[in-house]
Amino acid sequence: MRQFDPEQAMVETRREFGEHGGVAPSIERSATFSVLEPGTMPQIFAGEKTPEAGGCYLYSRHFNPTVNVLARYLAAMEGTETGICTGTGMGAITVTILQLCKMGSHLVASNTIYGGSHAFIKEVLPEMGVESTMIDPTDLEAVKAAIQPNTKAIYVETMGNPKLNIANIPELAKIAKAAGVKLIVDNTFTPVLVSAKELGADIVVYSLTKFVNGASDLMGGAVLGEKDFIFELMDLHTGRAMLLGPTMDARVAFDIAQRLPLLPLRMKEHSLRTMTLAETAQEMGVDVSYPGLESHPQHELLRSMVNEGYGFGGLMTIDCKTLDKANELMSVLQNQEKFGVIAVSLGYFDTLMSCSGSSTSSELSEEDQRTMELSPGLVRIAIGLTGSLEERVEQLKRGLKTVGLA
Ligand code: PLP
Repeated sequence: MRQFDPEQAMVETRREFGEHGGVAPSIERSATFSVLEPGTMPQIFAGEKTPEAGGCYLYSRHFNPTVNVLARYLAAMEGTETGICTGTGMGAITVTILQLCKMGSHLVASNTIYGGSHAFIKEVLPEMGVESTMIDPTDLEAVKAAIQPNTKAIYVETMGNPKLNIANIPELAKIAKAAGVKLIVDNTFTPVLVSAKELGADIVVYSLTKFVNGASDLMGGAVLGEKDFIFELMDLHTGRAMLLGPTMDARVAFDIAQRLPLLPLRMKEHSLRTMTLAETAQEMGVDVSYPGLESHPQHELLRSMVNEGYGFGGLMTIDCKTLDKANELMSVLQNQEKFGVIAVSLGYFDTLMSCSGSSTSSELSEEDQRTMELSPGLVRIAIGLTGSLEERVEQLKRGLKTVGLA
């Protein structure tokens, strides 16, 4: 069992009370902030006075007190010194990469990542003079071989989207350290289960839109890491987060902060249900993948990385081989069985299903999809928390039989 307990860390961090003693924090919605003395303003611009040093706020694209509350809770959960929140996960990912990789830099990135991140690295970065090498993150020799003198960072997802392959964070951290580059880990699929920073990541990024918020009603992202890097991102003159402006709104920060204490409970339930449903499909002879199953190629690796008690996550895939069969299965599961909803995204309280090759990974070229061995019939299922589990098992069984997969 690993020592770090994200649930306990969140409980132990100072709770923010409302202005009048409310048990929930107040929402500070101001775009700009006043100073008592005009001389304070230049000190803020010079970085001498900050929210932490002198309690000084300037402007909400820089720091905002309510957004900072959420960032502080997330940093506690992750075990990092500090963090910032952004308007979306892509906002967090892009500013992090752009802060580290300038014109002439090189990035080593996993080839099994969310389609938007893949497109940004492969299509947009070269236009900015940043080259990348995309590798199979489970092939540590390939990662080492991809590092060049101008490499600035290694970018991976703890659990790759959509293949659910697992990055060996401790070993990747060793490689990054030896090469003097930063290890950036997108931990969107595995909050609480995996503490990426504790395993050696330098920077942890999130789409909060998914499990962390859990209600699919708003968007958010976060970058969590050491103070030096986070302050670089927010530097008034050169900070990519400050200048590109993927700012989170204070009301969004409040909503997510209020849902965060339930995240560990939710993750336990997502994991429990996904394990049961994946086992059911496996017993029926279906081509199912779930990192909690011993049949998953990196099951033992993930077992060695998880914080005990939260299971193995809320995502499983069923390979229907063809897009037609995938569509048939999703249609039956949605319209006949009411098992879940055909929609992209994950981490919702209801089950969401999508065929990755023609949706969230469609940004990848056919060749890239082949390289990452993405089946055109792969259905990614993000298991929800609603309804009785026994009923969900029956719905899945019937659905699989109806379309002839079992
Ligand atoms: N990271 C992962 C693993 C994702 O799956 C996604 C979106 O699907 C993102 C990042 C992007 O997050 P957002 O949609 O909040 O910008």
